[in-house]
Amino acid sequence: MTMPGPLFEAPRQAPWLAPYWEGLGVGELRLPRCSVCGRWEWYPVESGPACPDGHYVWEAVGPLATVFTCTRVDRPLLPGITQSYMTGLIVTDRAPDCRIAALFDESAGPVSIGARVRLSISGAGESAFPYFTLESMS
Ligand SMILES: [Zn+2]
Repeated sequence: MTMPGPLFEAPRQAPWLAPYWEGLGVGELRLPRCSVCGRWEWYPVESGPACPDGHYVWEAVGPLATVFTCTRVDRPLLPGITQSYMTGLIVTDRAPDCRIAALFDESAGPVSIGARVRLSISGAGESAFPYFTLESMS
């Protein structure tokens, strides 16, 4: 399965997620940390991190991650999506406490729990959309 683009329209209108989408637009996966305690937080919320007086500081976490869980979706769950796809949760090397929903492209090999995957981005700029492919073992 190749990734010509997102399977659905991503929620880009949330202003507190703008740094995430801006990062993808320049080829980086950026996640938020709390400015007070440094804890990575995913999924960020509009009210900010739990620490009083804290705000999000967004940092690039690198392209490599490990598949925490995955499943193949063969039944059409969303309107207009008829193709089978692989989805799940990944944990990045730099922010291992964050489990991030991910879409997988299996053209480089089958994805399974524990597999090493690498960030890829379809589109560019404001239409950039993340997906993950099996990391080459060479
Ligand atoms: Zn904190």
